[in-house]
Amino acid sequence: MYYKSTRDSSLRIDSAVAISKGISEEGGLFVPESIPAITMDELKKLADMNYAQRAAAVFSKYLTDFTEAELVYCTENAYSVKNFETENIAEIAHLFDGTYMLELWHGPTCAFKDMALQILPYFLTTSVKKLNLDYKIVILVATSGDTGKAALEGFKDVPGTQIMVFYPEEGVSDMQKRQMVTQEGENVTVCAVKGNFDDCQSGVKTIFTDNDVIDTLEKDGIRFSSANSINWGRLVPQVVYYVSSYVTMASQGEIKWGEKINIVVPTGNFGNILAAYYAKMMGVPIGKLICASNVNKVLTDFIRTGVYDRNREFYATTSPSMDILISSNLERLLYLLSGENDAQIREWFGELASEGRYEVSDDIKAAMSELFYGGYCDDAATKETIRNIYKTYGYTCDTHTAVAVKVYQDYKSETGDTTKTLIASTASPYKFSSSVLSALDESRTSDDEYAMVDALAEMSGMPVPASLAELKTKERRFNGSIDKTDMKTFVLHELGLN
Ligand SMILES: *Cc1c(COP(=O)(O)O)cnc(C)c1O
Repeated sequence: MYYKSTRDSSLRIDSAVAISKGISEEGGLFVPESIPAITMDELKKLADMNYAQRAAAVFSKYLTDFTEAELVYCTENAYSVKNFETENIAEIAHLFDGTYMLELWHGPTCAFKDMALQILPYFLTTSVKKLNLDYKIVILVATSGDTGKAALEGFKDVPGTQIMVFYPEEGVSDMQKRQMVTQEGENVTVCAVKGNFDDCQSGVKTIFTDNDVIDTLEKDGIRFSSANSINWGRLVPQVVYYVSSYVTMASQGEIKWGEKINIVVPTGNFGNILAAYYAKMMGVPIGKLICASNVNKVLTDFIRTGVYDRNREFYATTSPSMDILISSNLERLLYLLSGENDAQIREWFGELASEGRYEVSDDIKAAMSELFYGGYCDDAATKETIRNIYKTYGYTCDTHTAVAVKVYQDYKSETGDTTKTLIASTASPYKFSSSVLSALDESRTSDDEYAMVDALAEMSGMPVPASLAELKTKERRFNGSIDKTDMKTFVLHELGLN
């Protein structure tokens, strides 16, 4: 299996090259040249395997330049009870008639980003070794809150790597900030940026493709790579949990083999839902893909009108990991839907960069609305949904997951579609204690984060994840905050190059 770039279809590289580079030189994203199929028989065979084995089976179709031993090494190290609080790695909770929660937050940082970022360092270091490349990898990360911490945990003290994380100063929850600024490890740097997530993401993308910077690094034996979901090594692990959940649901008799399910994903950068699309295109019986946004509803509008327009007000919401106006992974979907038309992608994304807007063709509009349903939910409705789910089903969910639940409820009442449905639950409620608690019982909110964590534990009956409990007494290591225009200087300085 070779990989091309969404902005250069003539490229032909191995997955190890795609993973070690992160992003293509001309600014495009790497995609496999075709989507491999998985048959019903193959799906049934996965039923007897654990999560790591299922992952290796899926990866063997995409990362064909990796040996079986290499895939086993990567998957067994990433998906074990050393790192996850549950043996199943991802849990499925039956919420109500035909609706299931795919809990993707039992990893070390309590958000779904761990599902990919626990394995990415293994993919990356294995790739570099396979390619006989003798350089140090510097990972630059822009985070809306969860990626940063998950990447820090994945890469801390991994030999041959260094990691720098940029987060929007006012754009993350208190627990998210605490998780990052207390990060341990000799090879880590965390820095706040005076701006929003899109500023952090554009800053990182600019540094990545700055030829002066690249040359300076090269002389020092350093290369950049990315842990954002623009890296194929981040995306392909996400395909696994959709394949695996289907297998679990069918083998437990929740659905019949071959029966279609719908999937709902609370969406920001379009990575998680794109992985569900890949699972569907591989042949997993998946019906509608329901794309849930908060009030930064650029994707809802795009799915409904075919116009992508980021020229709008940016809102800081109670679901900060979805406060995004530039959903990078949409580029991969549009590349596929346009028949791999790289010239068209260059044109649209050129317009996005210069005017902040592009409009796709009628064919693509039609394909989008066949595959996807887009909806959004504001903070008030998010809060009400958390309360309703708790009161009705005794289930406590975080703000991002609540956005998905609400949009799914809207979809169901609008369409009458009763297909069984899997909702991606993307974070532990403890990462957003203040918002969740104020939905459950306003009177118990407080200025003390851990008083709220305790109150939430009491009300939800859910154990507090050990990784969050231990932060209470951890020392803050990073206090820096910079202007968005200073990111390049900061990076060069941290690397000792200016
Ligand atoms: C990152 C994140 C999202 C958005 O996922 P994308 O892959 O960027 O669409 C949703 N919820 C939580 C909790 C997240 O951390």
